[in-house]
Amino acid sequence: MMPHDVEVAVIGYGPVGTVLTGLLARRGVRVAAFERGADVFTLPRAAHFDAEIARTFQMLGAMEAILPSTAATSGMDFVDAEDRVLMSFEAEEDEIAEGWPRSFMFYQPDVERALRARVAELPSAAVHLEHEVLAVDDRGDGVAITVRDLPTGAERTVTAGYVVGCDGARSLVRTAMGTTLEDLAFDQPWLVVDVMLRGEAALPARPTQYCTPARPATFIPSAGAHRRWEFMLLPGEDAVTMETPERIRSLIRPWVDPDVVEIIRSAVYSFHALIARRWRSGRLLIAGDSAHQMPPFLGQGMCAGIRDAANLEWKLTRVLRGLSDPSLLDTYETERAPHVRQFIETAVSAGRIIQTTDPEEAAARDAFLLDRANDRPPTPTVPPIGPGLGNPAEPHRHARVAQPIDASGARRDDLLGDEVTLLVDRAAWSGLAPEARARAGALPVVDSDLLAPWLETLGVVAVVARPDRHVLASATAADGIATMVEACVRELAPAGG
Ligand SMILES: Cc1cc2nc3c(=O)[nH]c(=O)nc-3n(C[C@H](O)[C@H](O)[C@H](O)COP(=O)(O)OP(=O)(O)OC[C@H]3O[C@@H](n4cnc5c(N)ncnc54)[C@H](O)[C@@H]3O)c2cc1C
Repeated sequence: MMPHDVEVAVIGYGPVGTVLTGLLARRGVRVAAFERGADVFTLPRAAHFDAEIARTFQMLGAMEAILPSTAATSGMDFVDAEDRVLMSFEAEEDEIAEGWPRSFMFYQPDVERALRARVAELPSAAVHLEHEVLAVDDRGDGVAITVRDLPTGAERTVTAGYVVGCDGARSLVRTAMGTTLEDLAFDQPWLVVDVMLRGEAALPARPTQYCTPARPATFIPSAGAHRRWEFMLLPGEDAVTMETPERIRSLIRPWVDPDVVEIIRSAVYSFHALIARRWRSGRLLIAGDSAHQMPPFLGQGMCAGIRDAANLEWKLTRVLRGLSDPSLLDTYETERAPHVRQFIETAVSAGRIIQTTDPEEAAARDAFLLDRANDRPPTPTVPPIGPGLGNPAEPHRHARVAQPIDASGARRDDLLGDEVTLLVDRAAWSGLAPEARARAGALPVVDSDLLAPWLETLGVVAVVARPDRHVLASATAADGIATMVEACVRELAPAGG
């Protein structure tokens, strides 16, 4: 067996690599992250995250520090060239309560710094900035990683049990896995402009998609004084001329006096829709933009990557601790890929509505949507994760576990623990015969009264909850609890043990 310097190496320390490093290190996994950059990426990118991501940040112990860099938002409007609302996505409370508002706007560099500060507190994480990974070699019993220290030029080899490529769109790990990206046919350049408000301006309170055929555009009221515009490039336009301050000032003038804002950054991006054909090969895995990319119209690209991290971290930990076979890691792709694909397809559909530049087509679209005030495209919901762990016949498999909230309004996810856990109605638990209770006690047991309303909503007396807050199995009666627990323990246990 090849000796490993670390249990997991995370390549790339963007938001996804940072969250994955933190979630693993919080469990005491020895993890090293390698990032070629010296600081967080400063070009304008993610501006929105959802309630599930807030809960993951909470799990990491970073949400309190992140909150000041965010603003909750109530939804998003799509308007035509005359400012008439064509359709809206609302961000009202989900029926599955994550315990956080459904949508947050945020300023990415501040949030990434808060995440990094949290990881720096965790002793089993080693973060190597200005270190470029040149090669990864899966030798079967471990992975050899060639790393260059960029300031000195020195190269060395680090060994790891597993490598997770969180190394973005041009992923080296994805290439090393020998997999490729499936192109879901979306490729459009947009200019993204971030500004700070320096005075009064009457701007929309909600993110707004301007479905204007002459120039499709997006406005995003971000946290604090941050505001963002995105402008679709038209045929013949190029990044260099679009990014000049004069051009940006003329583009934002219909909304705001350019003298009232300070342009802090801008970039032209090609928005893509791509998904990797494989997410794991032996000891190599990919997560985040290295595994999938989507146009940003739903604000879900980074969110999808953070969901990857939450799905993967506990499975990797179980495999490293010998509690599950490496085949558990195959459920990472089968659960995550269909979920991401659905988000990508919805983002592409939204993009096609927004990006219509043919005036006749746009007029037909507007008439169609304006006519159907009560029958417009619904607010996209978070799709279910794909098939993986659990019994396909289980009605609540993969439902989200609600966050317990106590009488003072405090979020009590801490009650649910960080392992695969039995969550059980207190009366059902105390009524169990000692023998059944001993069998069910093969998993950690939580019988808090705070769970009762949620269990009742599902019509069950107990669930087995995964650490990523998905239901693995449920029992409608107390006499099914022990059998349910045994089935879950069997499914997760190594084949030989
Ligand atoms: C305009 C725009 C708006 C967006 N808006 C949203 C939004 O509102 N909400 C949302 O959820 N998402 C949004 N996204 C998507 C989101 O920005 C990305 O999905 C997210 O940043 C991806 O994070 P990541 O950690 O996977 O990759 P990255 O942030 O790209 O990080 C990868 C890191 O890996 C490092 N790296 C790469 N190769 C190596 C190597 N060989 N060695 C060492 N380091 C390496 C890179 O330096 C980089 O820091 C938006 C994107 C764009 C472009």
